[in-house]
Amino acid sequence: MSNRLEVDVIIIGAGASGLMCAIEAGKRQRTVLVLDHANKAGKKILMSGGGRCNFTNYTVEAENYLSENVHFCKSALSRFTQWDFLEMIHAHSIPHHEREHGQLFCNETARDILNMLLTECDRASVRIQLQAEIKDIRQNKQPGFTVRLKGQDISCQSLVVATGGLSIPKIGATPFGYKIAEQFNINVIATRAGLVPFTFHVQDKQKFAILSGLALPCTISNARQSFTENLLFTHRGISGPVVLQISSYWREGEELTIDLLPHLDLQQALLKAQQENNKVKLKKFLSQLLAKRLVPLFLPDNILESTLPDLSHKQIQFIAQQFHEWTVKPNATEGYRTAEVTLGGVDCHAISSKTMQANQVKGLYFIGEVVDVTGWLGGFNFQWAWASGWCAGQVV
Ligand SMILES: Cc1cc2nc3c(=O)[nH]c(=O)nc-3n(C[C@H](O)[C@H](O)[C@H](O)COP(=O)(O)OP(=O)(O)OC[C@H]3O[C@@H](n4cnc5c(N)ncnc54)[C@H](O)[C@@H]3O)c2cc1C
Repeated sequence: MSNRLEVDVIIIGAGASGLMCAIEAGKRQRTVLVLDHANKAGKKILMSGGGRCNFTNYTVEAENYLSENVHFCKSALSRFTQWDFLEMIHAHSIPHHEREHGQLFCNETARDILNMLLTECDRASVRIQLQAEIKDIRQNKQPGFTVRLKGQDISCQSLVVATGGLSIPKIGATPFGYKIAEQFNINVIATRAGLVPFTFHVQDKQKFAILSGLALPCTISNARQSFTENLLFTHRGISGPVVLQISSYWREGEELTIDLLPHLDLQQALLKAQQENNKVKLKKFLSQLLAKRLVPLFLPDNILESTLPDLSHKQIQFIAQQFHEWTVKPNATEGYRTAEVTLGGVDCHAISSKTMQANQVKGLYFIGEVVDVTGWLGGFNFQWAWASGWCAGQVV
């Protein structure tokens, strides 16, 4: 015999969005139960931002998000803003700091963010049940749902799906949220890994292996986007913030153009050095601008050994092009194993941008990364999780 329980709200997923939604619903005196199959709440929060959680950004715009419906995120982001989240941070006296591009991080540990959320959950009398294995979900005849766990049926009026994306399966990411959407005939936009390093084809992997560990600022572009930040050569390919950013805009088989000297016009610099009658060898000239081990991979020896006055105008153009327009065709991304986010997800056209409720299924809500809203690197994914969770929390 199953043991039966009734609550107002069940939230599946004790991650960033689920906990925020739980706090808000709990504050409204709703009885809230959060179910998670993991043995701990908020595992992704703990591993985020290199352990310091980049919890939001000073500037949050719709342009910082990818979605099939680019307007969808605007309502939630304007109702629960970065300033609202910062107010919580201040109320809990969490020491934090700003890094470049307005990114806000904890000074000490991401655990401060999780502790804040769990404390607020406690204050709002939210119950969190971990290691909860959900067998199935049924829609009740009277409005509401029954969630069946091993040995227990729990019914609720509102069911919130906050199961996140597919990245980092080893800490508990599953496609469960997409399956729930499909069960209720809600469209799911095809998913793919985002904010993820690239791997090289064998030939490039061998050629650039010597650069593994080297970081340098560059601009990466494709036909749709361009970012300037640090690139990191790895033993598999390329990573670093600039690579993660463009990866969300990359499609299989596509070439990327990389400017390895984004803050300099190399052609002008070479012409100027020629005019000044600088007799240094090109190799030496370039090694003042770029790592010594990188330069020979981009130009043949005969050119590198030339002195600047010996270079023809055509050669100078060629040299500049080699460093300003390096074209790379990645083999693939590293996939969900290392991706920070999942692109695609529950189709925004099927849910309300104000409440996150499914248009056709009363009482069913989708929040956070499971929805087809994906932020850039820089705290935007958490801000979406907080904002969408907060919005649902006002109505569930
Ligand atoms: C390494 C890494 C670093 C990151 N750093 C940042 C950062 O610094 N800043 C930023 O903005 N974003 C960052 N992100 C992205 C951010 O963590 C996510 O976008 C955010 O956590 C999404 O919140 P969510 O509530 O939708 O999902 P999650 O926080 O992933 O929570 C989903 C929850 O659902 C549970 N769940 C899944 N399947 C089931 C199931 N079948 N049954 C029960 N429970 C289930 C999971 O156990 C999990 O607890 C990072 C991501 C990674 C992987």
